[in-house]
Amino acid sequence: MDMSHFNRIERNGVVFRTADTLSSPHAFSTRLGGVSAGHLASLNLSVRRGDSEENVRENWRRLGEAAGMDLSEIVYARQIHSRIVPIVTRADAQSPWLEPRQECDGFVTNEPGLPVAVFTADCIPVLLEDAAHGVVAAVHCGWRGSVQDILGAALAQMRALGARAEDVSAAIGPGIGACCFEVGPEVAEGVHALLGGETQGLIRPGEGDRLFVDLKAANARRLTQLGVKAERIAVSEACTMCEPEELWSHRVTNGKRGVMTAVIMLSK
Ligand SMILES: [Zn+2]
Repeated sequence: MDMSHFNRIERNGVVFRTADTLSSPHAFSTRLGGVSAGHLASLNLSVRRGDSEENVRENWRRLGEAAGMDLSEIVYARQIHSRIVPIVTRADAQSPWLEPRQECDGFVTNEPGLPVAVFTADCIPVLLEDAAHGVVAAVHCGWRGSVQDILGAALAQMRALGARAEDVSAAIGPGIGACCFEVGPEVAEGVHALLGGETQGLIRPGEGDRLFVDLKAANARRLTQLGVKAERIAVSEACTMCEPEELWSHRVTNGKRGVMTAVIMLSK
């Protein structure tokens, strides 16, 4: 159930999503279709969660085969809830079953055939593409990165490579939904500040001083403020907390979990 310009695809048991707004090869993975066991069952994509290198390698191979992308060398990072989004090249690629070399929360590239990826398990994955100027990005939008305007940082890096906001298409992938993202007032205040007060429909009261925040819609609104056309933004309805059988959720599992990826590359 994901109607907002997203497609749920199953190939050889591997379930992933794609967005109609993006023309470059890309995928949002789920937890289904891999070989990992126990609390990492089954499509865990990080060696930093206690999984074996062998399992993670096979999981990436399966995802790449299902999504039609060569994911044996990709650019990925240890994510730190920052607004750091470097421009990367083939020299930054690693086999994704190794410890990541980089520390940041997204990547921008104009290099054809180079997959850039972020990891999530409740946080919001965002893929960006300017097909006209040949630039793509993958961005990890947790609330901390979101309110630090990591999407603004990503767009600035895309512009540095010749992209134009009005030519950018976006896909905001599966992550914690407004139904479940109950937070303290500091999160709502951060979103309010990020959006210059344009938070209509994004925040509703929870229990006590808690609030429910629609982090996907907040990031979509930020993209429109940055000049991305609303009709070029797909927003997944899939909530990680509501669908823990299919999607990795940090909150549902109390942190005992694998990770999903959102990965994109320019066609060669
Ligand atoms: Zn939910």
